[in-house]
Amino acid sequence: MDLKEYITIVPDWPKPGVEFKDITTLMDNGEAFKYATDKIVEYAKEKEIDLIVGPEARGFIIGCPVAYALGLGFAPVRKEGKLPRETVKVDYGLEYGKDVLTIHKDAVKPGQKVLIIDDLLATGGTIEATIKLVESLGGVVAGIAFLIELTYLEGRKKLNKYDINALIHY
Ligand code: 5GP
Repeated sequence: MDLKEYITIVPDWPKPGVEFKDITTLMDNGEAFKYATDKIVEYAKEKEIDLIVGPEARGFIIGCPVAYALGLGFAPVRKEGKLPRETVKVDYGLEYGKDVLTIHKDAVKPGQKVLIIDDLLATGGTIEATIKLVESLGGVVAGIAFLIELTYLEGRKKLNKYDINALIHY
């Protein structure tokens, strides 16, 4: 299955000059969504992980079905002020601005092998911040999986110590 066929490119969104990759047209197709999930599950099995971590909001959409399929837990990474208990936080640079990401302090146990999942790798800022959160809690990042990688933004360069898997490339 060519997953790229299910991604819709939206020109000039959220601002002029950006070609937004809309994944909702993949998500609302059961066959394509299952195929993409199964591909990430295959990758996750190779990595023998203990936990999945994903940043809001599309990291939840892609990460949770993978966690379910493997019978593993999923720990959410969220913007500041969203998680109800004690958190650790990190500042990060986005493709479209700056923000803070947080994770519950007890979400990752020291030594746990973690697979980080998000929908799309652009500059790598979101995932770099997510890695910092996981590692600050003693987690070991065993792999990082994306639906889409924007190869031309070279986000991978920031993450060169880590194993990265993406299903669709632009
Ligand atoms: P980065 O931090 O790598 O620059 O940006 C990646 C983050 O921004 C991801 O969490 C992703 O959800 C979001 N993002 C940036 N550009 C796009 C895009 O074109 N399509 C989608 N679906 N998400 C994007």
